[in-house]
Amino acid sequence: MRAKDQSHETHFLKLLKSREHVLRKSLHSLIHGIELVETVSTHDVYDFKDLAGAIHQDNINHFSITRMEDELLQIDEAQKRIESHLYGSCLDCGEQIDLKRLESMPATSFCVNCQTSFELAKKMC
Ligand SMILES: [Zn+2]
Repeated sequence: MRAKDQSHETHFLKLLKSREHVLRKSLHSLIHGIELVETVSTHDVYDFKDLAGAIHQDNINHFSITRMEDELLQIDEAQKRIESHLYGSCLDCGEQIDLKRLESMPATSFCVNCQTSFELAKKMC
């Protein structure tokens, strides 16, 4: 059982690392994209529509960056949980998180049930 646990952890560690790599790459290009937009909006705007478009895109990029930074933090936390052999258990109820869920969202810290009730609670606020 121990050996199986270990390969399971190695598998998810690999998933997390590759997700982290993709995120860091996109984050890098997004940040450079924003620098570009800022240059355009201060120097090259001949049309209000252009500026609005640039600002709109810029807002989307800022939103994506925040989301990516959040996910990177979650990935970091998940890697720590792997190191301390706590990975795969829901942080709230302690139940085993569904493997399919972990495969698609390796950085998740909660089972479907807890995640759903958090989201419901958030909507009510
Ligand atoms: Zn749970």
